[in-house]
Amino acid sequence: MRAHRPTATFPDHLNALYDAFPFERSLAHDPVLLVRPFGSSRRSAEVAGIFAATLAIGNTTAIQGSFRKVLDLAGGDLAAYVDTVDERTWPDAFGPFKHRWIRGDQLGYLALRLRQVYREHGSLEQVFLDGLASQAGFPGGLAALSAALRGPAATHGGAPGAPRGYASLFPSPLESHSPCKRLTLFVRWMVRSGFPDLGVWSRVPASLLRVPLDQHVYWIAYHLGLTRRKSPSWAAVEEVTEALRAVDPEDPVKYDFVLCHTGISGDCPKHREIRVCGACAVRPDCLLWRGRRTT
Ligand code: SF4
Repeated sequence: MRAHRPTATFPDHLNALYDAFPFERSLAHDPVLLVRPFGSSRRSAEVAGIFAATLAIGNTTAIQGSFRKVLDLAGGDLAAYVDTVDERTWPDAFGPFKHRWIRGDQLGYLALRLRQVYREHGSLEQVFLDGLASQAGFPGGLAALSAALRGPAATHGGAPGAPRGYASLFPSPLESHSPCKRLTLFVRWMVRSGFPDLGVWSRVPASLLRVPLDQHVYWIAYHLGLTRRKSPSWAAVEEVTEALRAVDPEDPVKYDFVLCHTGISGDCPKHREIRVCGACAVRPDCLLWRGRRTT
């Protein structure tokens, strides 16, 4: 019977996948591409990062198009836009903009919230650190970001004046089972200094990061035995991260980009197909192939 846990050879095979991975090919299809040009200052990276992460739903071409549109509407400088966003005109600032279910008025309110957060805390890193220092640890850091971005009355159905559906853009792992993929991805971008991330947060160790569990990462993690959970959830995030931490305790989330883009690129067909799976470094560890001839 196939045991639903990582094989003994998984660490070596995962590292082989990582070492041979075509990062540059996949960078073109990742939202971090949009944020990297803003990495020269923490403030610019945080603001561009939180807008890009908030839009990180659906296919990358659409995400990139939507982010560029928002950037254009903000005059090419989102950090400066946040500093000067108008308390009265923010609902119309991004006009009829829409990306999936995210609307322009919600992004206008995000800009307004960010202005307030910077006045009160100085940086999103500080907000995260305050939550990280709580008993809840990393999930506490995400919860603090969620609360700051939603606004003061978020737990009672939305901050005063917040547009419909705004608070649900920033779930907290302490209040729901959500994997909180977009906030976790944002934190990965800010903390890791290894390619392709920005490393503008110097006070959060990479060893504490949690994996941003999107559908691609979840699928491959499940089939590598890193979690038994039947769907992406915060509990699955913790299990997958723990399994990756056993491979690299200092930088467990460095594998996220590779696992994600193995799925996005089509390198993994998500079914057994020797024509494609033949080149996969983790094929001996994949539940679809364990116990089968691999030559
Ligand atoms: S062996 Fe095939 S299905 Fe399994 S992870 Fe690799 S590419 Fe995907």
